[in-house]
Amino acid sequence: MAKHCPICNRSSDEARFFGEFCEYCSRKMMLKSIRPELSITECKRFRKARMGADFVEKNAKSIAEFAGRRFKDYRIKLLEFNGSAARLVLSRQNSPSVEVDVKIESTLTTCPRCGRISAGYYEGVIQFRGKPERIEKDIERLSSYLERKGSFIARTEGAANSLDVYVGSKALAESFLKRMHMKYKTSYTLHGMKDGKKLYRHTYSVSV
Ligand SMILES: [Zn+2]
Ligand SMILES: [Zn+2]
Repeated sequence: MAKHCPICNRSSDEARFFGEFCEYCSRKMMLKSIRPELSITECKRFRKARMGADFVEKNAKSIAEFAGRRFKDYRIKLLEFNGSAARLVLSRQNSPSVEVDVKIESTLTTCPRCGRISAGYYEGVIQFRGKPERIEKDIERLSSYLERKGSFIARTEGAANSLDVYVGSKALAESFLKRMHMKYKTSYTLHGMKDGKKLYRHTYSVSV
């Protein structure tokens, strides 16, 4: 016996059925129940998105993850992403899958890293002395290394053959120098107290 959809009267000979409704009506009902918006919080400066405690690159991968959290009851496939909108396929058991254009709503904020940059924060200075071309290359590497690890170059000062690079993290500055097998001398300057502890800035002198 053919079933008939109570909404559109299509029969099960013409369409697939999900429960008592045909696939067309099931899809319409699903679309009605989905609010096609994805709210994220983004860093103003680098357009990275907050995911839990971290800020991550805003790309297809993270957007798919945001969508997965937002539409918890569905399996998600991301078809397209263009920065402010995404096209998703949502599916779940005993339902047809639906294609949805989701608007990405961003709330802008300052991430902790950018907050430190704009406050002029730095923990150490790497003083590069040597050939300008070498220094330039090293600074490029340093910059992408720090960026990757969530830190930054606060500013640079000096001339091409004698450049001081202010860095956001002394631990990362040191691990960079070690990783690059650069010889350096460390000196310390007291710059304040925090919770009864003396705070030092480190200066690393490097000849390249
Ligand atoms: Zn129907
Ligand atoms: Zn930021």
